[in-house]
Amino acid sequence: MPDLAHIQALVIDLDGVLWRGQTALPGVVEFFNLLQERKIPFVLATNNAAASPEKVCRRLQRMGIHVSTEEILTSGRASAEYLRTELSVGSSIYAIGEEPLKTALVQAGFSLTQDASGVRAVVVGLDRQSTWEQLAEAALAIQTGALFLGTNPDVTFPIERGQVPGNGAILAALEAATGVKPRIIGKPEPHLYLQAVAYLQTESNHALAVGDRLETDILGGQRAGMMTALILTGVTQRHELGSSPIQPDYVFDDLPQLTRALMGHILD
Ligand SMILES: [Mg+2]
Repeated sequence: MPDLAHIQALVIDLDGVLWRGQTALPGVVEFFNLLQERKIPFVLATNNAAASPEKVCRRLQRMGIHVSTEEILTSGRASAEYLRTELSVGSSIYAIGEEPLKTALVQAGFSLTQDASGVRAVVVGLDRQSTWEQLAEAALAIQTGALFLGTNPDVTFPIERGQVPGNGAILAALEAATGVKPRIIGKPEPHLYLQAVAYLQTESNHALAVGDRLETDILGGQRAGMMTALILTGVTQRHELGSSPIQPDYVFDDLPQLTRALMGHILD
């Protein structure tokens, strides 16, 4: 049984860990029951800037799991928090993204504009309605020195028919047009995890990053100085582990195996 005695808090990925597509994965209710009974603090952290914390909450609620919106950190919310450390409140921002990203930026005290001239930052999350005009506005602002922030670097995302351009592909287009690299907030960069660890009021090395992808969840956790656990119910398969330079501290077949490992220890 893996020794998780020094773990005080968890930062947990969503897709591939709690559910896959529309289907809840086995053991998810028991997993949250254990965390809540033992008072193990956690944050659910996702690279998806188009996800709204309220929607994630409602989805969990339908599964019989009660989590507060403060316990859900999307890359959109993390980007808004990050900008609070870089810009003064009220600064104007040009955002390409769906409603949850824009809401997070406004809630963080920024004002969003339609016209990118003079903005302090350009924030790009996935927007499935975005147009060439928006890319042009963003490129012009980046060229004149606006901070260029990307919520997450995922170059594709899956739909029924296959892989389609994700936020990373839009960022790549803007980088090609401007010669400026975006600052990335989501995994595998450490900002999203570091914010989660700060919220959990623990040290990185006492927090466990739980995820299903080596190159995002596990690498990001390592960059943030956390312990890492790979769950094999999502993207990364066991046979890929042998040849990867990214090695997690723990590997679990599924959530029930992680739950049993956590139960093996009374956490203070
Ligand atoms: Mg995942």
